[in-house]
Amino acid sequence: MTAFVFNEINFDNHEQVVFASEEKSGLKAIIAVHNTHLGPAMGGCRMWNYASEAEAVRDVLRLSRGMTYKNAVAGLPIGGGKSVIIGNPKTDKTPALFEALGEALERLGGRYVTAEDVGTSPADMANVASKTKYVAGLGDRGDPSPFTALGCFVGAQAAIRHQLKRDSFDGLTVALQGLGHVGYDYARRLHAAGAKLVVADIDQAALQRAQDELGAEVVGIDAIYDVQADIYAPCALGATLNPDTLSRLKAKIVAGAANNQLATADIGEACRQKGILYAPDFVINAGGIIKVCYEYLNTPEDGMEAHVRRIGDTLAEVFTRADAEGLPTSVVADRIAEAKFKN
Ligand code: NAD
Repeated sequence: MTAFVFNEINFDNHEQVVFASEEKSGLKAIIAVHNTHLGPAMGGCRMWNYASEAEAVRDVLRLSRGMTYKNAVAGLPIGGGKSVIIGNPKTDKTPALFEALGEALERLGGRYVTAEDVGTSPADMANVASKTKYVAGLGDRGDPSPFTALGCFVGAQAAIRHQLKRDSFDGLTVALQGLGHVGYDYARRLHAAGAKLVVADIDQAALQRAQDELGAEVVGIDAIYDVQADIYAPCALGATLNPDTLSRLKAKIVAGAANNQLATADIGEACRQKGILYAPDFVINAGGIIKVCYEYLNTPEDGMEAHVRRIGDTLAEVFTRADAEGLPTSVVADRIAEAKFKN
């Protein structure tokens, strides 16, 4: 059998990769601790019906590395990690499964702290919490999405200042994809600031609400890439910046909450060449993890909103350095993160 962790494409000198299992509950989980130089590794637990173990390994390695970068740039005293449970979140969930995960986290002694993610819920995390204290973002403490939306808004402000040399959203058009937990709140802030919204979603009720409350214009899910807009705000899916969409986008700014917006790393340079200012996803969407981290570490919350607002300052630094060094914003953001966590 060929080894598939150390030579997996997303392996990046992860400190620890743990395969955790438990017979009675059927738990099969992989926990990846990417880097703990800044503090315990924090990142959510994803439950997914992976087609193979190799696919789960690839995902957990990629996602845990991403958390190190996100947490470092956000100036948080935590490292990066992630866990995945192999299974169908619709049919395979039991309390015992998440209790078994909690026991596995307990054995790691706090080197990794989990939270909810795709396929897991606050209720699942409550089951994890019955066995360990190494779990963050429990449901009773409130939804982090509004803070992610705030980070996006201040990030978009930094982007219009840099790219359009203006402070106001008045008269600007934003093509916003995905009116979910983050997207709707972000849309509300943009509307209040004077922006015109053109929106797409697969959820008709969300579209109707945006029309009624925010005066948004609705377009089809594929037509969002052709909108004559100043800002494209992806708040639904990953990989929406790709050669096809780049050839269609009219916006000169990309500022949205979605994770993994670049289909491939070279799209960062393609944006630069096209004169599109890309606000790197893991910088602009860190508001939620800032909120969760404050809660977990019991940091007094009076400084939390200011911390989220500093996302705007960080992005301004990314944009200025990218111009000065002739580099894509995505590369500059990576370098800022690496300077913080690599020692
Ligand atoms: P959500 O599930 O609440 O919202 C997603 C929205 O996108 C839904 O309204 C859904 O109907 C819509 N959608 C799905 N497919 C679509 C398509 N093809 N075209 C247009 N719309 C479509 O999720 P969320 O919590 O708002 O997160 C949005 C994005 O931001 C995700 O990529 C997520 O990973 C990322 N993110 C969220 C947070 C957070 O705090 N919630 C933090 C960081 C990153």
